[in-house]
Amino acid sequence: MSTIDLPTAPLGGPALAQERRLRTAIPGPRSQELLQRKAAAVPVGVGHTAPIHAVAAGGGVVVDADGNSLIDLGSGIAVTTIGNAHPKVVAAVQEQAARFTHTCFMISPYESYIQVAETLNRLTPGDHPKKTALFNSGAEAVENAVKIARKHTGRPAVVAFEHGYHGRTNLTMALTAKSMPYKSGFGPFAGEIYRAPLSYPFRDGLSGADAARRALSMIEKQIGAENLAAVVIEPIPGEGGFIVPAEGFLGALARWCRENGVVFIADEVQTGFARTGDMFACDGFGVVPDLITTAKGIAGGLPLAAVTGRSEIMDAAHVGGLGGTYGGNPIACAAALAALDVFENDGVIERARAVGAILMDRLLGMQERDPRIGDVRGRGAMVAAEFVVPETGDADAALAAAVAKACIADGVIVLTCGTYGNVLRFLPPLSIGDDLLSEGLDVLESALRDVG
Ligand SMILES: *Cc1c(COP(=O)(O)O)cnc(C)c1O
Repeated sequence: MSTIDLPTAPLGGPALAQERRLRTAIPGPRSQELLQRKAAAVPVGVGHTAPIHAVAAGGGVVVDADGNSLIDLGSGIAVTTIGNAHPKVVAAVQEQAARFTHTCFMISPYESYIQVAETLNRLTPGDHPKKTALFNSGAEAVENAVKIARKHTGRPAVVAFEHGYHGRTNLTMALTAKSMPYKSGFGPFAGEIYRAPLSYPFRDGLSGADAARRALSMIEKQIGAENLAAVVIEPIPGEGGFIVPAEGFLGALARWCRENGVVFIADEVQTGFARTGDMFACDGFGVVPDLITTAKGIAGGLPLAAVTGRSEIMDAAHVGGLGGTYGGNPIACAAALAALDVFENDGVIERARAVGAILMDRLLGMQERDPRIGDVRGRGAMVAAEFVVPETGDADAALAAAVAKACIADGVIVLTCGTYGNVLRFLPPLSIGDDLLSEGLDVLESALRDVG
């Protein structure tokens, strides 16, 4: 399947030419001017990957202020899965914005929030009774999932994993594994957070069962189930390097949680909504989490996040204990309803699998010819290549950074990730055409050849 109904044009706007087009060097003069203003007006802590400034995006491209058109292989970090400015999302936003922009759901509720909750309760893994609370960001969703799990269990401790990323707020920094750049200098962090070893087949060579035994033994010895409220895990760590755990790892953890009254929280903020070739990554692993956190792809680019889970757990928090001024904003909910309709009805899951097959095929081909690519892995349209020094197997972060930089300079937006910074990750919008995707991978291949 090479094309589906994922349009490339903003509603009523001119179709964006689906092409890589370099009118200037990257960054061009207008972007350079904006970079200077950014440096003067925005703190250095807020970094950027591509030194361009967007003026339009859709299909598989981002157009910059100098008229350059870059192939997008990052989707603004797994957000614009159905394509940027999807016409159905744009229409829903326009209509809602003209009706009312805010009442605060905790003051005067509205139907669209309830509809988003109903839809997520239906779509998320498991057919048990579920409830959903809405928030603004992935980090906020994870924080609230932990709050709910603690209230439900009356226990304090929370386990997170090596290579995990859960956000940038105080509690989610504590849950996040990597110090630089996410945590360094920002402590002290929230207490009662413990870190367990992950399953990382490329580096630990363990079976899923053995990796789970190692993690559970650490949890039982160092914490004790009776003190543990929740285990929080990304089914496939995103920022940590798209590490697909060995078969059986997640299932063994979920089973142990169920047997011990521990809330199993799947953080699907990055993996959710068709990205992995299933509606949720947990579906592909055959795992049913107690709570699932979602955000990123949920609303076609508008800020929205959710905690969905077993009704009896979700209802543990008292009246007024959950919420926030903007959580479930009506414009974001309208966008989410439009996006969720596209996810369900416009062949997005099939497209994720087709895009993933192209990515896998090309990257495995590159790996055959280049020993610096130590591992190619992923699920669906969430695929990564891990770079190593061939002689030692050591992480080669410099190579990953150089290749990403060369790609961007040549008109292809590529993101890095990984605890060791040596992973290139590919998360194209699923509205990208096969030709454009292939051209992006051609650019990657020649960048790889030229660098080194
Ligand atoms: C991005 C991300 C978060 C944080 O989401 P924000 O919206 O940036 O707060 C949390 N968990 C995972 C797995 C993520 O990828």
